[in-house]
Amino acid sequence: MRSFWEAQTWLEADVVIVGAGLVGVQTAIAHAAQRPRDRVLLLERGYMPTGASTRNAGFACIGSVSEVAVDVDLHGPDRAVEIVQMRSEGLAGLLSTCEGHDVGFTRQGGHEIFLDEHPALQRIDEINELLQPVTGLATFERHDAWIAPFGFAPSVQHLVSSPVEGTLDSGKLLDVLWGIAQHRGVMIRTGVHVVSINEGAGTASVYARVGTEDVCIRAGSVVVATNAWIPELVHDHAASAIIPARGQIIVTEPVPSMPLTGSYHFDEGYVYFRPVGNRILLGGARNLDFNAEQTTSHDVSQQIQEALETLLRDVIAPSHTDLRIDHRWSGTMAFSPTKQPIIDRVSPHVIVAFGCNGMGVALSSSIAKRVTELLNY
Ligand SMILES: Cc1cc2nc3c(=O)[nH]c(=O)nc-3n(C[C@H](O)[C@H](O)[C@H](O)COP(=O)(O)OP(=O)(O)OC[C@H]3O[C@@H](n4cnc5c(N)ncnc54)[C@H](O)[C@@H]3O)c2cc1C
Repeated sequence: MRSFWEAQTWLEADVVIVGAGLVGVQTAIAHAAQRPRDRVLLLERGYMPTGASTRNAGFACIGSVSEVAVDVDLHGPDRAVEIVQMRSEGLAGLLSTCEGHDVGFTRQGGHEIFLDEHPALQRIDEINELLQPVTGLATFERHDAWIAPFGFAPSVQHLVSSPVEGTLDSGKLLDVLWGIAQHRGVMIRTGVHVVSINEGAGTASVYARVGTEDVCIRAGSVVVATNAWIPELVHDHAASAIIPARGQIIVTEPVPSMPLTGSYHFDEGYVYFRPVGNRILLGGARNLDFNAEQTTSHDVSQQIQEALETLLRDVIAPSHTDLRIDHRWSGTMAFSPTKQPIIDRVSPHVIVAFGCNGMGVALSSSIAKRVTELLNY
């Protein structure tokens, strides 16, 4: 039995947000800014955020030239520009929220490398014209002369650069966002694993497991921002559209001399790498086995780890053939069928928000803004 005080103070909220990754915490911040008197409770199953937001590569990007070219072909030019626009606005929103805080952000430009001729190389002018209204400049430019200074193997034939891309420190970013949320009065509770959500008359009940204890929190509204784990809590057609995708990452030991700057894409964006201090971070390659990588498991697979290491040795850093790998991990992305985020009220008190499609650093603040609009609608 709960006391009156416990129930009123700890087990009731105007808004409960489940999942304290980039989407959840920015939704909490945005809602607290709009409705400062509301009690906002942010629940996270881990001791820290344990989804994609602290397991990603820290690219603050709008997409590489080959990815945008594929999007133009698949979704049409208007939709492709819309995707870039949303990423660009999302990044601006994220950076504005974090203004004055150190999230390790630098805008040193991004590059895409090609081992062969690729149709996108002939479409740079077309893509630049499409993106001009979004970026206000020539977004992509050929820079083959930079291949040798970056230390790549001679198999790298072409390089396209973009000045708009940046990188950040994903750990610092989440730490800063959690701090901003708390400063705005959001109550963050860790170690709270939500197991179900029931609709009631006028409120929703959020049932959670906290250690060995069961708790029930009454909420005016619930936002489920648990990424690819949404179907565990919401059984709706919107949630069933989620396609989980594992991303695997390796980080090397410190490299004696680091020729890389900024961020790099390869294989139509399926592979990405960047320097992190004097180490190289390299990830992706789920296109080698889409079926096996359609999982929420946080294990790593031998096939992809070996492919990443081979790429590191043979293409990216051929002058450092015996680099030790100091860190390996994986994280889970949530894809939507249309490459569009899904923000939907699935029942009177429950909203779902997901579908960053592997671009949550860029998209999450825009998603959070739309969730807040829906909460206040
Ligand atoms: C390997 C990898 C590399 C990536 N690289 C980039 C990149 O460079 N740039 C970029 O823009 N994007 C990148 N992404 C994508 C980006 O990280 C995600 O799109 C973004 O983090 C998603 O944020 P989210 O808040 O929706 O999900 P998450 O960060 O996964 O947050 C969901 C949270 O919900 C919690 N949770 C789940 N179930 C429950 C429950 N039942 N009860 C309580 N809490 C629960 C989880 O612990 C988690 O903290 C990458 C993703 C991966 C996996």
